[in-house]
Amino acid sequence: MTVTGAIWRDQLTAEQRELLGRDFGVIAEPRPDVLVVGGGILGVATAAASRDAGLGSVQLIDAGRLGSGATGGATGLLVPEPHQWSDPETFVDLERASLERWRYLDQITPGGLGLVELDWIGLAPDPGGLAAHQPANVEWLDAAKISALVPGLAWHLGGALIRHQARINPLRALVGLADSLDNVGTGVAATAVTVRGDKIETVTTSAGQISPGVVVFATGQPPVLDGLELDIPADRVKGHLLVTEPVSIHLPCTIVPVATPLEDGRLLAGGTLDYGDESPAVRDEVIDAIIGGLRAALPGLRTVRVSHKWCCFRPRHPDGRPVIDRVPGLANAWLTSGHFRTGILNAPATGMAIARWIAADKPPPETGAWSATRFSPIR
Ligand SMILES: Cc1cc2nc3c(=O)[nH]c(=O)nc-3n(C[C@H](O)[C@H](O)[C@H](O)COP(=O)(O)OP(=O)(O)OC[C@H]3O[C@@H](n4cnc5c(N)ncnc54)[C@H](O)[C@@H]3O)c2cc1C
Repeated sequence: MTVTGAIWRDQLTAEQRELLGRDFGVIAEPRPDVLVVGGGILGVATAAASRDAGLGSVQLIDAGRLGSGATGGATGLLVPEPHQWSDPETFVDLERASLERWRYLDQITPGGLGLVELDWIGLAPDPGGLAAHQPANVEWLDAAKISALVPGLAWHLGGALIRHQARINPLRALVGLADSLDNVGTGVAATAVTVRGDKIETVTTSAGQISPGVVVFATGQPPVLDGLELDIPADRVKGHLLVTEPVSIHLPCTIVPVATPLEDGRLLAGGTLDYGDESPAVRDEVIDAIIGGLRAALPGLRTVRVSHKWCCFRPRHPDGRPVIDRVPGLANAWLTSGHFRTGILNAPATGMAIARWIAADKPPPETGAWSATRFSPIR
């Protein structure tokens, strides 16, 4: 039987699953030095970074359970290097720094965060198939080498190999970071703010009022709250994913556009960009197309069964890159939103940048490109 829902929750222990709904409806610290609104990976990473930066008491709230937004449905790939072909250097630098931070957090967190080291191969017809210019850390493998690495691959293609990338179960990493936070209230929705001068004075929530020193909004898309005037264009892009039952074919690493191997012999495939599809429902025709593509690439899998299928929505700004900024016009509020396809990867570096900005009252250089006002003037 196929489960409709991401595999990530099923890979958690009962104790870890409990943490996703930690202190439901409870605000333990109504006057925190730092209030973080949003318990996806960006919010949790920012709360942890604020605590680590010594910013005082931190209260995190989420309207639902932790990871119930885009985070709980992501693929969990931490692969900065392929972005050399598509993104500006500043963005790839942020991603590289963030992967290093993930590795560090994985090492220092008791029990780890479950980071798995992984190589990446992008199949292409020839060395120039991905881009005319091949970066120095890309190794070109001809079709014979690819066939040796991936026995049973139907396509006679070479590929670009990039070593030392990684992946995580996003919920496992989220829970690992959230476990160390003192004050986490799930089932607590922020609904309004009051502003005095250039500061947010109170945040109204479904569980009562909070009077924070500073606020960080990490709500996926920019927050929509009474009393908060924001004019930052954003939308969301749906994506479908599936996981197979354990298979006998061994993939040595993530192979684009085929699949990513999971620990127990399962394959993770998909990551569609379903522009314009606003339905929260999993569409079987999209899942059929993904599994059809997998079977076409690896005919040995023609009878493989799907164990999990799901979809989720990526928050996006018009240029596909995030906002990491102080809220325009406010001295004690920050926001990070629109992390689109790389929010899991970029969460630790983003959280650190915001915590450093709050601590120094000065933007760190890595945030320069990600302003909230780059799209249109704030009214
Ligand atoms: C199919 C798919 C595959 C992906 N694969 C990858 C990948 O391989 N690697 C990668 O790096 N990224 C990937 N992503 C992108 C990644 O999932 C997102 O960029 C990231 O999860 C965004 O995290 P977030 O914390 O900003 O948002 P979310 O996870 O959506 O969290 C926002 C949270 O804020 C809460 N919230 C909202 N409003 C309020 C309010 N008013 N009060 C209280 N709480 C509120 C919500 O309940 C939610 O939990 C993928 C996404 C999809 C859809």
